[in-house]
Amino acid sequence: MCFLGAHARTHARTHTHTHTHTHTHTHTRRHRSDAQWFAEPRVLPPALHMIRNLAQRREPGMRRGATPTRTERIHAASKMRLFYTAIIWATLVRCTAGIPWTQQKHHHRAVTLTQDEIRAGLSHTDLETMWQRDLRPLLVTRYPGSAGSQAVQEHIKTTLRSLGAGWEVTEDTFVSETPYGQLPFANIVATLNSTAHRRLVLACHYDSKYYPPQWHGREFQGATDSAVPCAMMLELARALDEELKAHKSTSSDLTLQLLFFDGEEALFQWTSTDSLYGSRHLAEKMEITPHPAGATDTNQLHAIDLFVLLDLIGGAGPRFYNQFPSTAHWLSRLQSIETRLHSMNQLVDHPDNVHYFWPNQPVGHIQDDHIPFLSRGVPVLHLIPSPFPSVWHTFDDNEQNLDRSTIQNLNKIMQLFVLEYLNAKPAVPSNPQNAP
Ligand SMILES: [Zn+2]
Repeated sequence: MCFLGAHARTHARTHTHTHTHTHTHTHTRRHRSDAQWFAEPRVLPPALHMIRNLAQRREPGMRRGATPTRTERIHAASKMRLFYTAIIWATLVRCTAGIPWTQQKHHHRAVTLTQDEIRAGLSHTDLETMWQRDLRPLLVTRYPGSAGSQAVQEHIKTTLRSLGAGWEVTEDTFVSETPYGQLPFANIVATLNSTAHRRLVLACHYDSKYYPPQWHGREFQGATDSAVPCAMMLELARALDEELKAHKSTSSDLTLQLLFFDGEEALFQWTSTDSLYGSRHLAEKMEITPHPAGATDTNQLHAIDLFVLLDLIGGAGPRFYNQFPSTAHWLSRLQSIETRLHSMNQLVDHPDNVHYFWPNQPVGHIQDDHIPFLSRGVPVLHLIPSPFPSVWHTFDDNEQNLDRSTIQNLNKIMQLFVLEYLNAKPAVPSNPQNAP
């Protein structure tokens, strides 16, 4: 389950394209506090100011004086060029080498792949493969401590360990008090290159909400909540296996990490203690785990460039709005990817440029697995649709009510997002027109 605060719940139910002024005002206030948490130092603008000031200082001086000779003009122009070059060089050096690794996330720029690279990068994703191989095994009752949970954990670990990229797969297991007594929990953490300082994180929860059997007698599949997001992450790892393996072999200090949380759902009723069991435990653990190994003042939370949480995905026509101004530019990036893939005819049942991503429309905060990370200062991109799927927390949240086109489109969009974020350029076949 993903609980909406009272305001956000009303908002989600009544959401329309046109926000009233009151709405916007309310959200703006929330957003200011977010912006304060993530106040980012800027490097480029001061340098650009210097360049502009220099130009402004030189030009009037040259105009005011007597007409300069041709030699003087050439001399002045070459000095200007030299100065610009020095400024740009200094800026670039400061933007990369001079910035501590913990701050580089604030200056990170994703690469934009060419159309040939995009076609090559997305040539391995396949919805039917994902459905049979990744999704079906997840569509079982899998509340914490259940036999289904054990089977799903094995499925996730085996799938990732079988890939060529060489994922390091670990478990974070613990026992927690719940309204039903003590239960075992297990988060799964897969890291592509654990020696890289920085990590782009994708996260989902694999547990399903617990419904006592005597109440219904039907199996709750939790297809959108959150079997599909987890299957999308497994499919991403499989489809991009070659590219991720190649990326791992470069000297990049940035890598990919996948988090599969247990115990997101409340077992009885959503409270601060009966919910988010797995993410609360892992965020706490990462905070006290040095990173890189042996570090004294940095931990695994510093390693997270961006925490992308996928939840309640799989229904038709999801819309993802902006919850956090500090990461809205990454939502814009997803929107531009959607537009680019649309123009390349890569998306199915997608009549307009943009359907899914709405970075300019604010929406209320939603409680979910990102909260324990957000409260510790980790930048979050929360991909959860507003409104929630109509089948949310009903026994109709099942395989039959999933929308295949949407899932296929979002698979492609997320895979391209990851490739571009990591600056992982796929190898283009010698005759790219023949690429699938
Ligand atoms: Zn749920």
